Amino acid sequence: MKLLMVGAGLSGAVLARELAVAGHQITVIDQRGHIAGNCHTERDAETGVLVHVYGPHIFHTDDAQVWNYVQRFSSFKPYLNRVKTTAQGAVFSLPINLHTINQFYGRTMTPDEARAFIDAQADKTITDPQTFEEQALRFVGPDLYEAFFKGYTMKQWGCSPRELPASILKRLPVRFNYDDNYFAHKFQGMPEDGYTPLVARILDHPAIDVHLNTAFTPDLAARHDHVFWSGALDGYFGNRLGRLGYRTLDFKRSVGHGDVQGCAVMNYGDTDVPWTRITEHKHFSPWEVHEGTVCYHEYARACDEGDIPYYPIRLVQEKALLSDYITLAKATGGVTFVGRLGTYRYLDMDVTIREALDTVETFSAALAAGQTPPVFAVNPL
Ligand SMILES: Cc1cc2nc3c(=O)[nH]c(=O)nc-3n(C[C@H](O)[C@H](O)[C@H](O)COP(=O)(O)OP(=O)(O)OC[C@H]3O[C@@H](n4cnc5c(N)ncnc54)[C@H](O)[C@@H]3O)c2cc1C
Repeated sequence: MKLLMVGAGLSGAVLARELAVAGHQITVIDQRGHIAGNCHTERDAETGVLVHVYGPHIFHTDDAQVWNYVQRFSSFKPYLNRVKTTAQGAVFSLPINLHTINQFYGRTMTPDEARAFIDAQADKTITDPQTFEEQALRFVGPDLYEAFFKGYTMKQWGCSPRELPASILKRLPVRFNYDDNYFAHKFQGMPEDGYTPLVARILDHPAIDVHLNTAFTPDLAARHDHVFWSGALDGYFGNRLGRLGYRTLDFKRSVGHGDVQGCAVMNYGDTDVPWTRITEHKHFSPWEVHEGTVCYHEYARACDEGDIPYYPIRLVQEKALLSDYITLAKATGGVTFVGRLGTYRYLDMDVTIREALDTVETFSAALAAGQTPPVFAVNPL
């Protein structure tokens, strides 16, 4: 079949590759001037530092098949994400661990002592937490909530934690040991020369044609047998039912010399600091040596028309609209919605790849059975 892939991010690239391997002819388009979507990395012209253009990306997964898949297209360097946070005039280790607790309270507690101590801080009057705030207070009490959750959450989501559901904080967000490895996944690493070369190698197949700076137009669809859409779900329909809510990010770039903050990611938990975090990109490639350094101050705000949609909001109102778009999409033929924007979900890279691989299976099975390809290979709700 002649297939059109809208979007050259990880979803589009993996789908294109595997469908090409399965014998189809693929046209990939992207409205941006580069491949790799939000994972795009590029060398900073001034310093030579490899920059994660749309925010920090660390590859982490428990999925051995996905891990093996990416190894085919890039060598990976070991990399563990160790995040720090500046709050109330001091620097602490994240996620909240025994070091954070001991430092924050000026104590030398053992794991059992800390567990009992945090349990005593927890607000036990909250028996049925409805909001993020109630859930956090029930788990860790007011001190840790104020320092590590309240301000950061307000800046990131643009609303009070009282307006967010308790389900965001499912488990006790504290470790009673000194493990500061941010992700609890078996396989973690960084593609040695960045994500964009990795995606370029995935797309490097004789049956794949890539066209950049090319936005989707209906005539393109008419020239293909089927469309895979990794753009925004509401965008496919011209936002006919309204816009699905997103948070967007602004990055303010600055350059310096040597080492400016000593780590890749420093969060800022206080509300009087307008940015949510600062990323110093050279720390993502510690095997490289650069005299200069590049930092991005990151600010979160509501996503307006023309902004890049980053984080789907997915509260009650957005889910109702999503449901309407799903109904509309299911009544539309010739298209399969994929990826983080096409299904309006936050997806890590490994999940994105897993779903793209599974979508190819589902698509191929439908063709083999003489059935219409599914509009969604995964349920966006
Ligand atoms: C700030 C941030 C940090 C992240 N950090 C991590 C991390 O540390 N680890 C991790 O595993 N994951 C991380 N992620 C998630 C990761 O970015 C996603 O998993 C991945 O980008 C999803 O790929 P995708 O192809 O589905 O979407 P995208 O990368 O968004 O690609 C979609 C592409 O479609 C194109 N497009 C859209 N509409 C059209 C149109 N109408 N015509 C043509 N082209 C169109 C867009 O230009 C875009 O390039 C992070 C995400 C964010 C926002």
